[in-house]
Formats: sequence, structure tokens, C-alpha cells
Amino acid sequence: DHARREKNLFQAYRQDLEENYLYRLEVLNELKQALSSTQSELAVFYQPKLSLNTGKISKVEALIRWNNKRLGFVSPELFILVAEQAGLINQVTNWVIDRVIYDLRQWDQIGISLQVAINLSVHDVTNIDLLPGVVQRLKLAGLGKNKLAFEITESDLMKEPEKAIEQLQAFRTYGFNLAIDDFGTGYSSLSYLKNMPVTELKIDKSFILKLDQQLEDQNIVQTIIALARTFKLEIVAEGVENEATLRLLNAWGCDWIQGYFISKPMASDQIQRWLEEHGTTKWIRNDIEKYRY
Ligand code: C2E
Ligand code: MG
Ligand code: MG
Ligand code: MG
Repeated sequence: DHARREKNLFQAYRQDLEENYLYRLEVLNELKQALSSTQSELAVFYQPKLSLNTGKISKVEALIRWNNKRLGFVSPELFILVAEQAGLINQVTNWVIDRVIYDLRQWDQIGISLQVAINLSVHDVTNIDLLPGVVQRLKLAGLGKNKLAFEITESDLMKEPEKAIEQLQAFRTYGFNLAIDDFGTGYSSLSYLKNMPVTELKIDKSFILKLDQQLEDQNIVQTIIALARTFKLEIVAEGVENEATLRLLNAWGCDWIQGYFISKPMASDQIQRWLEEHGTTKWIRNDIEKYRY
């Protein structure tokens, strides 16, 4: 089937790049420079999440971007992996957190209120210094804990489930929202899911991209939504690219959608303008009403 074939092709291509030792070494060296340079090539983009319950945009996801002078645009899927393997991921994550807190303060001053979800790798979650560091920086910036949330992929969670559960529990106890990302691709067992201290489940976009055309994906997604309800988790669908898919998800009671149909990830000044145009409150609200069955 088409979506899976596309994914396999992409993965094969990615594997080629990743197995190219010299290329990866170059990525690593350039990344080290980018992290230490003040004129950073790195940036954080933001993608809106639309609530199908309220029709509002109150949350966004932070996605790192890197445009290197020699390598050009490097995919985060690749350089995040390189950073993980080289022991640099904590530095990358800290860079993202600082950038997000900076943008949150700017938005705060002009009256834009958003919760930003930051992607964490398993090495971040098991790093016991991360949580106190985040808490301290939020306090210094005068921002509440409802301003940040965190996402971790199902497959990363399953790399060290016991340790991850323990650390995530600390994040929850502090009051941060947590999401399992890319759900449906990571082989987690129901017993782990039951004990996972998370608030949100994000359905992997491979099930969503062609949802309107694929009966099998429709069955899978309805099953995941039912499962999420059992565990009282909010449901996010990522990779929503068209109206037909939005309609299906809305009919099945999906809570949030994210994807190119709403907007691609945007730079901080761009999203500022985008929100001013569409409004953080009741954007698309009337549209949502018309999508309801
Ligand atoms: P993710 O966290 O699952 O993020 C969703 C990805 O789907 C993003 O790709 C986003 O641009 C893309 N996307 C969103 N809507 C659509 C859509 O409608 N259609 C399609 N085809 N794609 C859509 P991106 O930005 O390339 O990031 C890829 C992955 O890299 C992320 O997947 C995440 O796992 C990782 N990543 C990105 N930024 C960070 C970061 O700051 N830290 C860490 N640890 N990982 C990150
Ligand atoms: Mg994510
Ligand atoms: Mg995802
Ligand atoms: Mg992903």
C-alpha cells in the first residue's frame, strides 16, 4: 500500500545517508559548530494543533530546523539521530528549550498565549538533570508550567521503559503534560501503556496521511482512538493533509489535529502573523461546526 511503500522508500534512502560514514561525520562536525556559534544556523519552527472540541489553537509543537552553509537543509530525523549517537542530544535539547522559552516570553508580551510541546529523546528523559533545569529556566523567565509540554516517541519509550516511566512520573508530578509520539509504530505493550504517566497520545502520521483513502488505516485509527479513551488520554492526529481526513477524525471524536491542512511548521515571527490573521481563539470555529456530522 502506497503510504507504507513511500515510508519504506524514505527509510531506505535515509539508511543510505546514515550509513555513509563520511557524510555523518560531516553532519556531526557541522552540528557541533552550529551549537557553539552565536549566529546560529539552527532554528525552532512551530506547528499549530487545532482543538476539534473548541475550534481553538492553544497549543503548538516545536520542531527544530537546521540550514547549514555547506550541507544545506539537514533533516531533523537524521541530525537528531547523529546527535544521540554522539552524546550531543542533551545539548540540542537544551538549545531548543532556551529558544522556546525566549519565544514564549516574546509572545507573552504581545498577548499570545500558547502551550509549546518539545520533543525529547530517550537520552533526555533518562537524564535526571533535565527536569530541574527546565523548571529553573521557566521560573527565571516568569512563565508558568502550563507553557511547556513534552513529547516522546513510543519506540524511544520502549528502549528503557522502566527508567522512562520513573522519569516521566517526575515530569507529571511537577505538572507538565506529556504525549506519546508516533503511536502505533513502536510495539509498546498494553501493560506498559496502562502504567505510562502520560496525558496525550499522538497517532503516527503514517496512519493519517492517506486516511481518507485507506480502509485499513481507518480501522486502525478508530481502534487507537478507542484505546486512548480507555486510558483516558487525549488524542492527537498528526499529518492531517485534507478536509476529508479532518471530517473522519472529527466524527470519531479525535481531540486535536495537526498537519499541513491547518498549517506547516512556521518560524516564530511567521506564526505570530498567522495567529493575528486567524486568531488564537475560535479560528476555523465556524468551519469546524460545518465539519460536524
Ligand atoms: P514528530 O515529532 O513526529 O513531528 C512531526 C513531523 O511531521 C514533523 O517533521 C512535521 O513537520 C511533519 N508533519 C506535520 N504535519 C505534516 C503533514 O500534514 N504531512 C506530512 N507529510 N508531514 C507533516 P520534522 O519537523 O521533519 O521532524 C521529524 C522528526 O524529528 C519529529 O517527528 C521528531 O521526532 C524529530 N524532531 C524534530 N524536532 C526535534 C527536537 O527539537 N528534538 C528532538 N529530540 N526531536 C525532534
Ligand atoms: Mg513530536
Ligand atoms: Mg510524531
Ligand atoms: Mg516522527
